[in-house]
Amino acid sequence: MPEDKRSFYGVIHSIQPRIRLNRSFDEAFHTYLGYALTIVEADGSILHIGISEQLHEKHRLKVGVVVSGSCKPVEDTKLESVDYYRVTGFKVHDSLDAESQYEVPPPLATYRERGPRRLAAKTYDSKCGNCMWGCKMAVEIIVDQWKPWIRKYRLETFCYGPKSCKHYSPGPKRRVSGRNGMVYVEEDWVDEMLTEHRGEDD
Ligand code: SF4
Repeated sequence: MPEDKRSFYGVIHSIQPRIRLNRSFDEAFHTYLGYALTIVEADGSILHIGISEQLHEKHRLKVGVVVSGSCKPVEDTKLESVDYYRVTGFKVHDSLDAESQYEVPPPLATYRERGPRRLAAKTYDSKCGNCMWGCKMAVEIIVDQWKPWIRKYRLETFCYGPKSCKHYSPGPKRRVSGRNGMVYVEEDWVDEMLTEHRGEDD
């Protein structure tokens, strides 16, 4: 196997949408790339691997399923929330808990239609790691649209789940750098607008 490839064999610990967020001051644009798998191997290694929507559609993956394959390190780590992608030779072996309480995550169109709310990073890390509604997005910020080569990168966490989830906590408002030192603060109404078509338990 070429050095840049890595094989994996382990249990799916989490499957969430893999979405990139491009920001330019008060504008935001989402790119739906596929799904992000967190796989735990027998020796305790934890891998974050991006897969396509087609692969998920084919295998209807969920938490608890044992899978294997090969993957490559991502070329630009600033643009991805996962460490590996370009999966080949993917196989589904078994399920640790065939009747597990975990659901098969829906198509990406469902996430797009539901809309996200910002989610506190600490809450994501402590409560949402294997929830199919959680999402850690790679964020690219164009600081000055007249100098588009000046960019910043970071990760942001979001929830696409029911508004009534008892774990939900929004965390601090997101701040986006702009030209001449200006800062855009994303107020709560943005999340309210993106999810206003959903009831508390949807
Ligand atoms: S807040 Fe609740 S619904 Fe949202 S990602 Fe976390 S556990 Fe899932």
